Amino acid sequence: MTLLGAAQIRELAAQLDLKPSKSLGQNFVIDSNVCTKIVRTAGVQSDDICLEIGPGLGSLTLAILENAKEVIAVEIDSRLAQQLPITVAQYFDHPENLTVINQDALKINELPAAPTVLVANLPYNVSVPVLLHLLEKFPSIRSGVVMVQAEVADRLAAKPGGKEYGIPSVKAAWWAEVKNVGTVSRSIFWPAPNVDSKLVGFTRRPTPGNEEMRVKVFTIIDNAFAQRRKMLRSALSGLYGSSSAAEQILMKAGIDPTLRGEALEIQGFCKIAAVAPDIF
Ligand code: SAM
Repeated sequence: MTLLGAAQIRELAAQLDLKPSKSLGQNFVIDSNVCTKIVRTAGVQSDDICLEIGPGLGSLTLAILENAKEVIAVEIDSRLAQQLPITVAQYFDHPENLTVINQDALKINELPAAPTVLVANLPYNVSVPVLLHLLEKFPSIRSGVVMVQAEVADRLAAKPGGKEYGIPSVKAAWWAEVKNVGTVSRSIFWPAPNVDSKLVGFTRRPTPGNEEMRVKVFTIIDNAFAQRRKMLRSALSGLYGSSSAAEQILMKAGIDPTLRGEALEIQGFCKIAAVAPDIF
């Protein structure tokens, strides 16, 4: 199968009179080797139903189609969503393996089939909310690889203690084991963004609690990192009424109240939620 390179991307863009939108994070991959590498890193198998967010002009889509059973591609830009099946029919023998959904990925709550793997070059401005939304809504996704801004990748994969560790790291850890799996140069995009990118790999693991617990834990995380230099007893004082009430909850959970949120793994936040009252 032919994958899309710089010449084909240029041709498609000219045909569509496409002016890449910055707000939609439209930076298209023009190096087919990178697409092949992403699909290989994700370990896509011939029985996988792959979810792709933001297929754009189809560079990565074609590389996934070559390996997966099916691809469900969710694209917000209607011009791109309309063009994609045409491009795929031109370059791939089984265009019926692709379903394109013209929608905002953040609003997707159901899909025509249960995806098993996520592979995407995510739109940079919404990469974290999109990833968390998909992990929440589609439990059938067992693993995936997403390309995101290098700085965001470092935050998603961070472990407690460092300055990168924060809300994205802990919330992602609720759902999955997350790690950096590669670096991508800015020169493989058109237009070239002014930051480098990284590949983030994840493998789902059993969640530490049910949905009610998750909501509670995520509220505690949001508060703990709202002013990240604050000790937990003070950061959680708004949530539990006072700093002494927060201190009591933390002690009951076996967590030192003078620690900062950045010192706790997801399990620490779960311990707090387990003894804390429900807040609505
Ligand atoms: N996958 C293509 C590639 O690698 O060349 C394009 C990736 S580009 C970084 C991001 C794509 O996501 C664009 O096609 C953009 O239109 C689309 N997009 C932006 N926001 C979106 C959203 N909320 N839901 C779905 N697609 C979105």
